[in-house]
Amino acid sequence: MRVLYVTAELYPWVKSGGLGDVSAALPPALIALGIDARLVLPGFRAFLDAFPGITDVARLQTPFASERVRVGLARLPGTERVVYLVDHPTFYDRPGNPYGGPDGADWADNHRRFGLFSWVAAELARGADPGWSPDLLHAHDWHAGLAPAYLTAGGSDVPTVFTVHNLAYQGLFPAALFADLSLPSGFFALDGVEFYGLVSFMKAGLFYADRVTTVSPTYAREIQTPAFGAGLDGLLRSRASTLTGILNGVDPTVWDPQHDAILPRRYSIDDAPAGKRAAKMVLQRRLGLEEHDDTLLFGTVTRLTPQKGFDLLLGCLREVVIGESQIALLGSGDRDLEDAFTATAQANRGQVAVEIGYDDALSHLIIGGSDVILVPSRFEPCGLTQLYALRYGTLPLVRRVGGLADTVVDATSVSLAEDRATGFAFDGDSSEALLSTIGRAAALFREPKIWLRMVRRAMTQNYSWETAARQYVALYREVTPRGLLQTA
Ligand code: ADP
Repeated sequence: MRVLYVTAELYPWVKSGGLGDVSAALPPALIALGIDARLVLPGFRAFLDAFPGITDVARLQTPFASERVRVGLARLPGTERVVYLVDHPTFYDRPGNPYGGPDGADWADNHRRFGLFSWVAAELARGADPGWSPDLLHAHDWHAGLAPAYLTAGGSDVPTVFTVHNLAYQGLFPAALFADLSLPSGFFALDGVEFYGLVSFMKAGLFYADRVTTVSPTYAREIQTPAFGAGLDGLLRSRASTLTGILNGVDPTVWDPQHDAILPRRYSIDDAPAGKRAAKMVLQRRLGLEEHDDTLLFGTVTRLTPQKGFDLLLGCLREVVIGESQIALLGSGDRDLEDAFTATAQANRGQVAVEIGYDDALSHLIIGGSDVILVPSRFEPCGLTQLYALRYGTLPLVRRVGGLADTVVDATSVSLAEDRATGFAFDGDSSEALLSTIGRAAALFREPKIWLRMVRRAMTQNYSWETAARQYVALYREVTPRGLLQTA
């Protein structure tokens, strides 16, 4: 079965969050199961520079540019994995992140940038590469949301799967820009891409794809409710029979304490205490925290946006500090949250350390060297940092939502007695709820035997991409009779 995997991000070259990690790990897991998966990516500079020997597949006349747009083909460095690049420098060769400029503001022509991207993906599905055409198109997040719409508009029978990695980012644009997208006028409708008078790329994916998935079973249920549906819960309820949640996995080539070169001392479940002690010491030294092994260290690696719930931590930080715990936060995002955390770090030197920015190496050290990883998200489609933390024997403290609810077993008298506890979970949207759960964690930290048992239980959790890939393949088979015959 041939699958065209449509994504704007690919770790380690372009990543703004979990989507980049998923795009790096899921396709190889699919390939390992016999799926011929190829990626299509926007021609961002980071990709053009990294991929050697890009050849021409096609030069397409598109509705988005007067000149033809080159579709390049390359192999990912050091692998046989094939990727297509939509090589249109006017759109994609820009400074900043994939979606906005260095000032953080979204590019004003994002509808055209990701319209072209989706349009070319649909053309590839319709055979633009004479040497390869897919049995199925799998589009990810709003950036690729128009691809199923273009296929529908063109009368294609190539089946489509659309995966929501975060419903909060929808790709909304003024109605006047619909004309730039070269879709049939009838598509700007309630049964189409129209969302309260705007154009919604996310809705296009949700409406036109044959199957919709999201990245955890709980989030798949939650987004069908007004509280989590971001205005799309009605559509998602109507699609309930074609909507599934498939939990993300952990890429062991990137996240594995036994092979992680960033850790001062690699460790397995058998020597976790020594490995974690070494990592904690290096982390405390690196961040200027007081070097005490017996001080409870809360770590966090996050985008600083309201979604992630770190305002709740600000609301109880004084009490956490008085309780003599430490905090190590790596994150970037909203300026006011960045400023507030920077100020608390300055006021609590030695106990609170804050690094504003994006730092891959430090993220590994925090995941390995902390005792607890804090993930107090208001909503969390899957969440990856708690999965990484489990693998490193760092107990997650999470809000009980989405993928966090699916992957962390709260330490209660029952779960502890049954040796199932892997972390801590709270409900509600208050600093008090967070603080009382921090208090529970602190109390258990003073019980080294119980703590170590939880560390070991956490490290045995196996969130593998193979498990996830098997579920995607089963889904692909449901919608591709042709694929079913080929792989039978
Ligand atoms: P989201 O996709 O909502 O940001 P996830 O938990 O699914 O959240 O994925 C976040 C990914 O980005 C993880 O791999 C995490 O380690 C990484 N990450 C987030 N912020 C940073 C940062 N400041 N520095 C390094 N890595 C980060």
